[in-house]
Amino acid sequence: MPKVLRLILGDQLNEKHSWFSKVQDDVMYCMMELKQETGYVRHHIQKIMAFFDAMRNFSCILEERGHQVKYIKISDSSSNKSFGDNLNQLITKYNIERFEYMLPDEYRLDMQLSEYCKGLNITSSAFDTEHFMCTREQLKEFFATRKTYILETFYRDIRRRHDILMDDGEPMGGKWNYDHQNRESLKRGEQLEELELADRNLESLFKEIKDSGIEYIGRVEAEKFKWISRRDEGLEWLDYWLDKGLPKFGKYQDAMHNEYKFLFHSRLSFLLNAKLISPKEIVERTLEHWDKNKHIEIASVEGFVRQIIGWREYMRGIYWAHMPNYSSLNFFNHRRNLPAWFWTGQTKMNCMHHAISQSLDDAYAHHIQRLMVTGNFALLAGVNPDEIDAWYLGIYIDAIEWVEITNTRGMSQFADGGIVGTKPYVSSAAYIHKMSNYCSDCHYNHKEKTGERACPFNSMYWRFYELNRDKLAKNPRISMMYRTWDKMDDAKKQAYLDQAESYLESIEEL
Ligand code: FAD
Ligand code: SF4
Repeated sequence: MPKVLRLILGDQLNEKHSWFSKVQDDVMYCMMELKQETGYVRHHIQKIMAFFDAMRNFSCILEERGHQVKYIKISDSSSNKSFGDNLNQLITKYNIERFEYMLPDEYRLDMQLSEYCKGLNITSSAFDTEHFMCTREQLKEFFATRKTYILETFYRDIRRRHDILMDDGEPMGGKWNYDHQNRESLKRGEQLEELELADRNLESLFKEIKDSGIEYIGRVEAEKFKWISRRDEGLEWLDYWLDKGLPKFGKYQDAMHNEYKFLFHSRLSFLLNAKLISPKEIVERTLEHWDKNKHIEIASVEGFVRQIIGWREYMRGIYWAHMPNYSSLNFFNHRRNLPAWFWTGQTKMNCMHHAISQSLDDAYAHHIQRLMVTGNFALLAGVNPDEIDAWYLGIYIDAIEWVEITNTRGMSQFADGGIVGTKPYVSSAAYIHKMSNYCSDCHYNHKEKTGERACPFNSMYWRFYELNRDKLAKNPRISMMYRTWDKMDDAKKQAYLDQAESYLESIEEL
């Protein structure tokens, strides 16, 4: 009979965790597909399916290895109850003497479970998930000692500590960062072979979710489901991607194109965030691969490694250093509602149309689409960060609060006033035109600032700076923009501001 009950959350699918190293008759695991987890925001259907499929497969693997698992499916009546109620039922039914869980990465669940344990009359304890490069304690140490945090300091620290891309204590190749080599757009007419994920038939899971009455966003071809939710298939994909994708990852990291949605991005974020694969494994395989394929440029390897062990871990550090306050920060006091076309993609702005439609079709957009297209527009338009957060948290396959909110509210919206970034990521049409082919096929003209066909990004860009002068003008990274603005004659400035206001008044029609 089990004496210990261990809870595994949907994003804790780390089969290498020490919990599973031996089968223990007195330990029972439980996993739950709960309405509480599908209902706090409207999620993309592919995200719900990927998580449930991954969880079900994980529980089968544990059972095949001899572990005892209690699994609540979304179609079971217990899925309507909370974690606490379901746990209480199991504790009573099996006369459990001890409750254990892995530390949740989400503040909300962390609070919920620690509160739950306080009310228990049996012993309980929490364990590290053994997934990240840094434990929560190490993050606390790093972030507590600093008033400002810079990714670069953090990243260098991890590289040194784990001896990654290091040569006798110095960065390999002589530089820590090769980002300036990673900014190419696709040349006109350049043909690519977009890498395809193998598909699977998940029709019955889709039907079960629909029948349970869960509200969702987005579209799915359930019989040809594209996302990988199994570790072995994920590792196969990683090897394939290292071979075909890594060599061009760096060069085209920031590029956007209306025909190629994924370019050379790895699509590993779901596998990582569900903890099916660890960052350490990815980095080790990458470096092994590079060792055998030295023609791959260091800029690609370092760029990829920086995302995995730098940005991803750093965002987690920011999250734990600043939650729960972080989720209500609104530095610019933005209040506008998100335009309705964020949920349909029906806008005349070609860049927005592509980024949003693709997100609805695939639960995916790559980093620059999220940051410099949708995020950029929302910031220039002054949309309430709460609404933007809910959109990003719902729509992306990889969206879990600790990494979503820091990227959205922090990096993309500057709603944290500069905790994550040193300046807001905003641009006019010039950047989008440079990095994509969206503008050539757009209703609007990327060169025009005023007039019926002027690109909305252009006038809104200057309006944003003018409106936020008191908050931004002293920032040394921005002062040049103010000098340029101040040199313009008043009539021109007023024309830009009027154009932006008129676009914002009819934002739903853009
Ligand atoms: P690749 O481009 O192949 O990069 C490799 C890996 O590096 C990713 O899988 C990811 O794990 C990691 N990575 C890259 N950039 C970041 C970053 N800024 N922060 C954290 N990890 C990073 N990422 C999420 O995992 N979940 C989110 O909810 C999320 N929301 C975002 C919201 C906004 C507004 C922005 C600008 C970025 C967001 N990101 C988020 C970061 C990044 O866009 C995604 O990790 C990436 O697009 C996932 O696709 P990929 O696996 O093909 O990534
Ligand atoms: Fe986007 Fe403006 Fe280019 Fe159109 S012209 S694609 S709206 S940047």
